[in-house]
Amino acid sequence: MRGDRCEFCDGEMEQRRVLARFRFKEQTVYVESVPAWVCNKCAEQYFDAPVYKHLEEIAQQREHIQKTISFPLAEFEMVTT
Ligand SMILES: [Zn+2]
Repeated sequence: MRGDRCEFCDGEMEQRRVLARFRFKEQTVYVESVPAWVCNKCAEQYFDAPVYKHLEEIAQQREHIQKTISFPLAEFEMVTT
């Protein structure tokens, strides 16, 4: 993704920490402080492959508490082992 242009609007990508909205098994999980590439025009978010994998791990861990919390917030740095 480094140095790439946004595939929607051809805007420039900036690396930022974002509150990521992440779809996992038809549920929506929010994770704070996720390193992402953000388009400076349309604000589309892109994640590097290792980041995306980590988001999936967080989402898997979050599954069991989603029955009681409608919008769980997780820290990206949380331990997932
Ligand atoms: Zn864009």
